[in-house]
Amino acid sequence: MRKTVLITGSSRGIGAQTAIKFAENDYNVIINYKNSKQNALDLLNEIRKKGVESIALKADVSDFQEAQNLVTKSLEEFGHLDVLVNNAGIACQKLFTDISHEEWTHMFDVNIHSMFNCTKPVVNSMLKRHSGKIINISSVWGITGGACEVHYSASKAAVIGFTKSLAKELGPSNIQVNCIAPGFIETDMNKNLNLKESEIEDIKKETPCMRLGNTKDVSEAVFFLAGASSDFITGQVIGVNGGILI
Ligand code: NAP
Repeated sequence: MRKTVLITGSSRGIGAQTAIKFAENDYNVIINYKNSKQNALDLLNEIRKKGVESIALKADVSDFQEAQNLVTKSLEEFGHLDVLVNNAGIACQKLFTDISHEEWTHMFDVNIHSMFNCTKPVVNSMLKRHSGKIINISSVWGITGGACEVHYSASKAAVIGFTKSLAKELGPSNIQVNCIAPGFIETDMNKNLNLKESEIEDIKKETPCMRLGNTKDVSEAVFFLAGASSDFITGQVIGVNGGILI
């Protein structure tokens, strides 16, 4: 039976590239989007051409009920989920003193509450099958902390705590839970920072691999953590950061 993966926030960026990686490796793929419908439909088309089954479902995963519906529809369509990639996320740069209560709450709703919302119904189904892989996307800032990104960094640190705790609880049920902490990856998320060319060059110089990361770098690591080769790896935080944090 072909395996099935649900990737939250897969209309663009890291999520979209990860969807392609799984499709190329004979997985059925559930694409999830919130706003970028056309991107999701284009991706759906591309994935179906690879000969696997795919659907694109709109859901704001920060909303408990919408996330529940996303998982329910996925299970109705495919019967089972082998892999959940909790990837949907937002970022924001501003001084701590400028962060409003609403912005703080929204950051946590999207970056970590979404993981509870999606993982809870998926785990119930994985427990029945005594098998599953959950991969959560954190960030290097979740480890080091980042100035002018207190809410982002704190939410991504929470992803690490979530991953480690859940890994301990689900290990005996043969469900592995791991986390990826990317460094600077070229996507819309960073394009929106409007960094100057000189600032980008500085980041490259600080990175031992001397370049920025790309979505493929992350998708390869996600795919490894989804496969049988990683069956004895759980509760880990894998840095995909070109060595900027060692
Ligand atoms: P991106 O290009 O901005 O894409 C974000 C994706 O998340 C989009 O598909 C977006 O969907 C989706 N999304 C946002 N809020 C959502 C919600 N409430 N419900 C459902 N989907 C939602 O970002 P990215 O760079 O690929 O980032 C992916 C993940 O990697 C994030 O968790 C991010 O924090 C993490 N990360 C990124 C970097 C980096 O340098 N890029 C570094 C470390 C960690 P729509 O467009 O359809 O709304």
